[in-house]
Amino acid sequence: MNRPKKRVPRGNNTTACPHCGAPCISLKTRQLAPTMREITYQCGNEGCGHIFVAELSAVRTLSPSAAPNPDVHLPVVVITSRGAA
Ligand SMILES: [Zn+2]
Repeated sequence: MNRPKKRVPRGNNTTACPHCGAPCISLKTRQLAPTMREITYQCGNEGCGHIFVAELSAVRTLSPSAAPNPDVHLPVVVITSRGAA
């Protein structure tokens, strides 16, 4: 018995479709700023077909960079035994 082919998201840079909840495939990315990236996703559910744009932002530092960009200012979060805030 042949099963229909499913689209499988590559890597771990994926998200759920906001309409049907299926895993999405990233089609392209665009760097908008040092801390902001725009990602175009396509829903992996062929019965849905939603294509949308999402934003990915760096929001805080957990471990400081050894090669800091002077234009990047992210709040530093202290990691405790309970984890990051
Ligand atoms: Zn969908």
